[in-house]
Amino acid sequence: MRMRFEEWRAVARDHLRQEHPPELIDWTTGKLKPSLFGQPSEQADTAGSAYSVPKQFLELARVVGCHRDASAYALLYRVLWRITHGEPALLEFESDPDVLQTRQLQKAVRRDAHKMKAFVRFRKVVNGEQDTFIAWHRPDHLIVQLVAPFFSRRFPAMDWAILTPDESVFWDQSKLTYGPGVPAEQAPQEDGLEELWKSYYRSTFNPARVNVALMKQEMPVRHWPTLPEAELIPELLAEAEARVKDMVARQEGLRKSAADFLPEVRTLQNLRAQAAVCTGCELHGPATQTVFGTGSEHARLAFVGEQPGDEEDLAGEPFVGPAGRLLREMMQQANVDPSEVYLTNTVKHFKYVQTGPRRLHKKPGSREITACKPWLEAELQYLKPAGLLLLGVTSAQAVLGRDFRLSDQRGKVIESRWCRHTIATWHPAAILRAPTPARQKEMQLQLLEDIGRGAAVDMQK
Ligand code: URA
Ligand code: SF4
Repeated sequence: MRMRFEEWRAVARDHLRQEHPPELIDWTTGKLKPSLFGQPSEQADTAGSAYSVPKQFLELARVVGCHRDASAYALLYRVLWRITHGEPALLEFESDPDVLQTRQLQKAVRRDAHKMKAFVRFRKVVNGEQDTFIAWHRPDHLIVQLVAPFFSRRFPAMDWAILTPDESVFWDQSKLTYGPGVPAEQAPQEDGLEELWKSYYRSTFNPARVNVALMKQEMPVRHWPTLPEAELIPELLAEAEARVKDMVARQEGLRKSAADFLPEVRTLQNLRAQAAVCTGCELHGPATQTVFGTGSEHARLAFVGEQPGDEEDLAGEPFVGPAGRLLREMMQQANVDPSEVYLTNTVKHFKYVQTGPRRLHKKPGSREITACKPWLEAELQYLKPAGLLLLGVTSAQAVLGRDFRLSDQRGKVIESRWCRHTIATWHPAAILRAPTPARQKEMQLQLLEDIGRGAAVDMQK
């Protein structure tokens, strides 16, 4: 079994630290070659040399390391050795034989990754109440781990798996899990969902790019048996032009989400900066600005609302309008210091309909909620609050699942993925809209109680 890139990286770093030149290492095992003079002295107990490896090399190595050719790792170590031993600018010398070869491998892996992105087609497999989408693909190189993050960004809100003969990957809407490869004969076979799959393909097929010669060149014959939609191609060609607009729009809809904008290092500061430029759904268009969460980095209690309202949209701060004022008043009555909590929303842009001079709040749809969820998840992941208060059904369902019913479960302490003490309660705006004063009073008391219950959790910890 070929060693993984991360493993190669660690082993290479070790060899480098011990000043083992490339010709002494057997990269099929990662160990030193047996030598006539016995093993060169292992210097693991001495400090050895510390080299800083340029980021540019690591990025290149991550791609080249996926090449199926077993010599890729030896080549990479040789390049690394040269960069750290007197040739720091080696990668700029494109005519150097090692650099040339590295670039060739890089190009081959990139082309293969591009093909995987273009040709993987998922089949829906109904599995209990959860649908899983499965795809079978046969890449030329060992690129599953290289390409899987692309699919998790593109299809964040479904469970899917991609099986290849070398390796498999599964996405459960929150993390990627890698497993062993699957032999071709176990790949998903024809099933009743074939038609659906075809129509899925039809709906994502982008006729703007249709060009038969190019298609044949890009889609090697080897891929065709796993593409039942191939039979649709003549028909699609005939209809192509009329479909262009619609297809492009649909593809946009399928592709984008906040996940495309997540920073690598997910501090609140970085998240806020990236959310400010998010165009993960259509809501960013008409709104004034992104309204990100605010509050203490060390908050033990977090509140999640639905989306910013008119005043929040203008101010750029959550909960500064009428609902926010009621919420702060309730916090004060519950002895919770508003400066010690974190306040955020499920959706970060204001959705509204313009009626005359007024912008009327409109409920966010499931597409927008799903697209925006990566922000909320990253905020909660960072904060790890001791208590989590979900205000209203939108945030409750976003965190606890679509089956959650506020009317049945309001005020109960529930364990969620983000916090063991999660409580869903009324949204203050719902209280302001209560049908009768008596009902309003009752809901207000319940909100007060629930905030108290959230804060009590904080005290216990
Ligand atoms: N309602 C919300 O859900 N969030 C706000 O920020 C303001 C009102
Ligand atoms: Fe991005 Fe969320 Fe705004 Fe949509 S609502 S553009 S996903 S921040």
